[in-house]
Amino acid sequence: MQIHWHRRDLRASDNRGLSVASEAGPVVPVFVFDRDVLAHAGPPRVRFMLDALSTLRDWYRDHGSDLVVAHGDPREVLPELAAEYDAERVVWNKDYSGLARERDSEVRQALNDADVARESVHDAIHHEPGSITTNAGDPYSVYTYFWKKWRDRQKHDPYPEPDADDLAEIAGDDLPTLEDLGFDDPEGTVQQAGTEAARERLADFCEDAIYRYEADRDYMTRDATSRLSTDLKFGTIGIREVYAATEQARAEATDADADAEDGDDSAGPVESVEEFQSQLAWREFYTHVLFFNPEVVSQNYKEYERDIAWENDEDLLQAWKDGETGYPIVDAGMRQLREEAYMHNRVRMIVASFLTKDLLIDWREGYDWFREKLADHDTANDNGGWQWAASTGTDAQPYFRIFNPMTQGERYDPDAEYIKEYVPELDAASPKAIHEWHELTDFERRRVAEDYPAPVVDHSERRERALEMFETARGDD
Ligand code: FAD
Repeated sequence: MQIHWHRRDLRASDNRGLSVASEAGPVVPVFVFDRDVLAHAGPPRVRFMLDALSTLRDWYRDHGSDLVVAHGDPREVLPELAAEYDAERVVWNKDYSGLARERDSEVRQALNDADVARESVHDAIHHEPGSITTNAGDPYSVYTYFWKKWRDRQKHDPYPEPDADDLAEIAGDDLPTLEDLGFDDPEGTVQQAGTEAARERLADFCEDAIYRYEADRDYMTRDATSRLSTDLKFGTIGIREVYAATEQARAEATDADADAEDGDDSAGPVESVEEFQSQLAWREFYTHVLFFNPEVVSQNYKEYERDIAWENDEDLLQAWKDGETGYPIVDAGMRQLREEAYMHNRVRMIVASFLTKDLLIDWREGYDWFREKLADHDTANDNGGWQWAASTGTDAQPYFRIFNPMTQGERYDPDAEYIKEYVPELDAASPKAIHEWHELTDFERRRVAEDYPAPVVDHSERRERALEMFETARGDD
């Protein structure tokens, strides 16, 4: 018998660890609810995970097996399960955060002490940390160079799913409810979980939006992104399967390009597919950054001469969390986060810039809130995104480039459709009034939307303060 320990790989197909275990089969699939890991999760993530586990368990049941569900410390639970099922080996897919690596090395030791073989394999990203480096062998801190090597490197094909014969005929366990795990229901809706749902999202995206991704991805209402982030976070779909679908889309776009009449400018779709692939590479870049710099979860990647003197005003932080800052695009994003456990990428950049550069609040506060509220919270990507916006990360936004929330809203949501979807108080307001909200008088604001707040800070004034704050941290004074 072999145990496959599912963690961030809640799927049966394109799962390298499961594939390795099933070659020696039969496999006993196991999931362990670890209180230490759950302590860092918010309700939307746990909701998605439980739903994904339920679809995974159904898959095993349809294939004559089941999912063993255990609770507790994997260092104790796994040796016990290995003894119970007489398993010779426990296999799992690697996780790259510092905490996970520490825990995994202790699990390895515990299994060793119990005389059980163990194997951890590389699965979650295409190219393992350490495999893409500078010519001097160092990890990259600038994405562009990383991307060029990542793009040109051979990719592995998807791994096949195991046959029913490779799986152990066992009776599994019930899954706990959210309440059993000590969580309330999430505030809003959470995407449908499971491999089938992820495959549908991928297929839909590759039919159309992938070809206009490059042009449309920054516009909130154009529905031009894949919405695969939570699937990739929990591994309800494998990265090789996603990449293979994008390569298929690229091949179709290339054929269409070749058939096009001379002078027909149809090179766009191929580049658009590549633009999407480059986002998959960002995910891998940040995974490498986290692997080589585990301390970034709580520390700035980039060192300044002095500490950044964040102001950390509690009331402003609360207004940001509640979507009550009086900056419509920021408030729409923060409310989308609560309602859907998700936020559009452009708006994530805007709200993160606003928190750090307008409200002068430490990026760690924003990161903690996202960690609780996002279904797709991923340590590497979330941290990378926050530190980029705060100008403290690798390849960061330079400190003097500060997003203007009004012009960002006007540019990417010109008709204020996205804003009105999440900020109904502004329903009757014209797009012009919405994008000029900060310039209206209190009297005008009351006439346009009496329940919507005035801006909590003045962007131009705060921008100057942010510049001073960073210049002092740089030691420029
Ligand atoms: P698509 O545009 O369809 O992209 C496809 C996939 O590529 C995504 O699912 C994701 O896995 C990856 N990806 C895309 N953009 C990025 C990026 N900038 N960095 C790393 N990977 C990327 N992404 C997360 O997956 N989890 C997070 O917790 C997270 N937090 C973020 C916080 C901030 C402040 C910022 C600015 C960005 C954050 N991102 C995070 C990146 C990005 O916003 C989301 O991946 C994206 O919005 C998810 O929607 P999608 O799946 O439709 O993306």
